[in-house]
Amino acid sequence: MYLSVVIPCMNEEASIPGLVTRLTQAIAPWKDRAEIILVDDGSTDATWKAIEVAQASCAQLVGVKLSANRGHQIALTAGLEAAQGERIFMLDADLQDPPELLVDMMFMMDRGFDVVYGRRSERQGETMFKKATAHLFYRFLNAMSDVPIPQDTGDFRLVNRRSLDAVLAMPEKARFIRGMFAWAGFKQVGIEYIRAPRALGETKYPFRAMMRFAIDAMTAFSTKPLKLATRLSFVSLLMATLMAVYVIYSLIVYQTAPGWASVVLAVSFFSGAQLLTLGILGEYIGRLYVEAKDRPLYFVSDDTRDMVPDVKRLR
Ligand code: UDP
Ligand code: MG
Repeated sequence: MYLSVVIPCMNEEASIPGLVTRLTQAIAPWKDRAEIILVDDGSTDATWKAIEVAQASCAQLVGVKLSANRGHQIALTAGLEAAQGERIFMLDADLQDPPELLVDMMFMMDRGFDVVYGRRSERQGETMFKKATAHLFYRFLNAMSDVPIPQDTGDFRLVNRRSLDAVLAMPEKARFIRGMFAWAGFKQVGIEYIRAPRALGETKYPFRAMMRFAIDAMTAFSTKPLKLATRLSFVSLLMATLMAVYVIYSLIVYQTAPGWASVVLAVSFFSGAQLLTLGILGEYIGRLYVEAKDRPLYFVSDDTRDMVPDVKRLR
């Protein structure tokens, strides 16, 4: 097997027929040595049915059905683990990432790159809010992260077997896959492309899911938030010293210590700071707990290739 295409799908019944058509055209040059893996991430619509229908007329297609919804990054991981190709191409089901870019990515890989990722030079059809938050997120993440993570990239990319194996060797449960590839190293290059609007269906990343995704990325690639508490403690020491000087001064000069306003301000500022640092600690501890439980990332309940064992476990 030369090329594996991996696509996570959650409630994408509308997208699948068009996706399969466009994809089979894009991979035509590698036709006999390619597989298309569609992972059904616990869809509640007829996604699995659509995959089975598509599979009937397209022998290269493999469907993998997860036992429940596990989220985009884990569904993608399930597909990557099932992939058998030497080169692995990842994209979303909604055709926001043009499959035709595969030819250019292949070209770059032929020139010795291990990872060729797509960089979004423009996002069409997305709300100002999504564009702005995504822009800020990638810049903030990079400022915090211990490894440089390419900005404005998604999971849309072509990777070779050795870089994929490096990522699959990482056992973590909170998986921020684009960051994991960055951390894995090897030779990487980006190709710019214009991100099209979603062809059909609607986004599976509402604001809450986006926040969770952002915090997952942040906690997985940086410990800097944990250091915030130490920094805040210096601010608090400084403020306490200044206030002490002020209180002693006014005691001597006015024979009384005025200033309930400063007390209220100090109390509310520091209770806010304490709750914030507690919250940050909680985010990290919660993730430690999930890692410590060490549950398998997913279970496969059905697959059309009959090659994945009944219960596929990670590690
Ligand atoms: N997805 C998934 N499981 C989820 C959420 C999303 O498999 O829990 C898939 C979805 O079907 C799509 C991809 O992840 O193929 C990206 O989702 P979407 O296009 O909705 O995200 P957006 O482009 O709006 O950020
Ligand atoms: Mg999308």
